[in-house]
Amino acid sequence: MGKGFNGLICKAWGGSDYRLTVTSTEQVTETFVRIGFSAGGLLADHPVHPTQWVRLWIPEVGSDKLHHRGFTLVAQNPVDDTVAIDFALHDGPAADWARAAKPGDLLDATVLGSDFQLPEQAPAEYVIFGDTASLPAINTLLDAIGDTPARVWLEWQHESDQTIPVNNKPHHQVTWLQRVDDGRLLRETAQEITCDTDIFAWVACCGHTTRSIVKTLRTQHALPKTAIKAQAYWK
Ligand SMILES: Cc1cc2nc3c(=O)[nH]c(=O)nc-3n(C[C@H](O)[C@H](O)[C@H](O)COP(=O)(O)OP(=O)(O)OC[C@H]3O[C@@H](n4cnc5c(N)ncnc54)[C@H](O)[C@@H]3O)c2cc1C
Repeated sequence: MGKGFNGLICKAWGGSDYRLTVTSTEQVTETFVRIGFSAGGLLADHPVHPTQWVRLWIPEVGSDKLHHRGFTLVAQNPVDDTVAIDFALHDGPAADWARAAKPGDLLDATVLGSDFQLPEQAPAEYVIFGDTASLPAINTLLDAIGDTPARVWLEWQHESDQTIPVNNKPHHQVTWLQRVDDGRLLRETAQEITCDTDIFAWVACCGHTTRSIVKTLRTQHALPKTAIKAQAYWK
């Protein structure tokens, strides 16, 4: 099966390739599924870090084409070399693959570009904007930040999204907001909040909303670039 131009780029930039094998599937809600994998040696080469992600090569049904998509590793167990991936389901090759996945299925993954580390000095607070696609990463972030307070805004598209487990502790405040007008409520929230400049912001929503929130954090709240980690998770 062909990885095409994206495959060549990943090779040129030194990406390392692994073959994952499905070991389990768990329907968390009707539009969110957790798939367990044995990781083909991936965790021996790439230490676990918060928001760790891989590039999956998703086969297109009835073609030899592979689609290249980012997904977050959760529940990593380096001793057993096992990981899980949570898929938010919609209409798309990756979502379709996840709907049909069963134990024994194989999936190729490339590791390239996942290197996020928490700030060396703990910020006064984490301010986090995301949705169900970035909730797996946010959960690993909440696990990692310990006693540091956090405010988290999550966008939902299906009522049941709000039942997906969030790894928040009592000092992490979580607010779910419905996705309306392509993310307007998240964007407005970023404008309405007050925040000091000694916080750290982590933002991963759809492309438009991510860009807008980053602009608000930089211009309205005067956050330095170094205090923001942002990545568009889908478009
Ligand atoms: C670093 C990184 C980590 C990520 N981790 C995860 C993860 O752990 N779990 C996860 O579910 N996603 C994750 N994503 C997002 C995922 O890569 C995208 O949602 C991707 O577009 C899904 O591919 P697809 O083939 O299903 O849909 P595509 O072919 O890309 O899109 C098909 C259609 O679905 C729409 N669409 C795509 N994604 C979404 C969405 N999330 N919500 C609503 N509509 C959507 C598109 O607008 C399009 O109309 C991550 C992205 C990045 C960059």
